[in-house]
Amino acid sequence: MTIGWHFNNTYSKLSDTFREEIKPVPVNNPELVILNKSLASELDLNFSNINKDELSKIFSGNSLPNGSNSIAQAYAGHQFGHFTMLGDGRAVLIGEHTTKSNKKYDIQFKGSGKTAFSRNGDGRAALGPMLREYIISEAMNGLNIPTTRSLAVVKTGENIQRETALQGAILTRVASSHIRVGTFQYIAARQKKDELKTLLDYTINRHYPEIKNSNNQALDLLNLLIDRQCNLVVNWMRVGFIHGVMNTDNMTISGETIDYGPCAFKDTYDPKTVFSSIDQMGRYAYCNQPVITKWNLARFAECLIPLIDKDQDKAVKIATETINSFEKKYEEKWINMMRDKLGLFGLEDKDKFLILDLLTWMHEKKADYTNTFCHLMDLAPKKDKLFDDNDFINWRKRWEERLSKNNDSSKKSLELMRNNNPLVIPRNHKVEEVLKAAEKNNLKPLNQLIEILKDPYTQKNDIDDYQIASNSNEKYQTFCGT
Ligand code: AMP
Ligand code: MG
Repeated sequence: MTIGWHFNNTYSKLSDTFREEIKPVPVNNPELVILNKSLASELDLNFSNINKDELSKIFSGNSLPNGSNSIAQAYAGHQFGHFTMLGDGRAVLIGEHTTKSNKKYDIQFKGSGKTAFSRNGDGRAALGPMLREYIISEAMNGLNIPTTRSLAVVKTGENIQRETALQGAILTRVASSHIRVGTFQYIAARQKKDELKTLLDYTINRHYPEIKNSNNQALDLLNLLIDRQCNLVVNWMRVGFIHGVMNTDNMTISGETIDYGPCAFKDTYDPKTVFSSIDQMGRYAYCNQPVITKWNLARFAECLIPLIDKDQDKAVKIATETINSFEKKYEEKWINMMRDKLGLFGLEDKDKFLILDLLTWMHEKKADYTNTFCHLMDLAPKKDKLFDDNDFINWRKRWEERLSKNNDSSKKSLELMRNNNPLVIPRNHKVEEVLKAAEKNNLKPLNQLIEILKDPYTQKNDIDDYQIASNSNEKYQTFCGT
């Protein structure tokens, strides 16, 4: 019985400009920590007959599957607004696996050793951050938000040096591709139109075949990405997700969330929430995410200028107008998303005030974002005196009045809310708790948390403990020194 890998490595067939051919650097003593069996089966892969030793070799890159052809991809990026040449400095793409239904997925090892793009880094990753990416990416998938996935984590058996010595680890990341805004920036910076056209054609073939025959492929691609990224950031806002490092190299052309570094879900509602210790200016704060999405899309548009029109001035004009469509699209999608969260059908002008007044109340009272919506669905983990507040009671009256105008039944309204308001999110204190245990070889809490996060919209008996926000007032911070 074979595992079922089917590699067909189209990206590695592009010219040297796009990638370096390189193998993962073997590790001392790999040990499998976690394997995502449900994802494996979605990928038509079967690991059930492979023993743990062999799995450890496979997911550390010590033993590469037949048909793989590993590469480090070149890319650039605006990091906190500054342009830099980057590339896979600690990751290799081992190949593109094709499922039986002909879907193609990048299989990437993150933490796999030095490459031509490592700059001063060691090419390695630590266990905590790799498990963190596993938890949060799988939680995003459970929330029905486009994301890269996590197939496995192994410990390398080697320590890596950060502020202290940490256990090394490798994450197997699965993505519909790793083409980023930064990939286009890297190629555009070389100012060779044929290379840019190669990347455009490749991207359209892989992700947007519907515009293959269009008259202005570059412009159509820009419009499609605006839509995808707009949907993505609206989804993040819906569940209170803060990416933390929305650099252009961390924005995919597929529209999947990528690169879970210093990210987190917020508990109390404060639009200025920032978790990342390196984001001193709050550039990537919760409320800035739509603005930054637009900013990143503008950097993408700049790359496409030579392909939008031969006349540069005309191309710039078209691209600018296209980018400026973002706000209106976002506002419309955002308000509809909030309507869904409140179970409102139809459109009423006053909805905007109803929504903003609730958010203002939550902000003033430091209410928990997720649990406020749980309260409105009668599914809060515990009774909270906060909701006895007069302002809230008055708001609630207005909400109920608006609900009564729904032509649809209250059952349908609740269903809409239930589909849009998660009961569980990866609470920061829970994530920290399970990571600490995992670092000491206790994997039970990790597996339990991942199980709960698979189905976040369904009410179950044993989830209370996962719904309650931490009562610690300490400011939560996540670190990028991963
Ligand atoms: P990230 O913060 O993971 O998005 O990474 C930003 C850039 O830094 C990418 O080019 C990474 O490949 C590179 N990088 C991050 N950590 C390391 C490391 N330990 N060694 C080499 N390169 C790294
Ligand atoms: Mg990155």
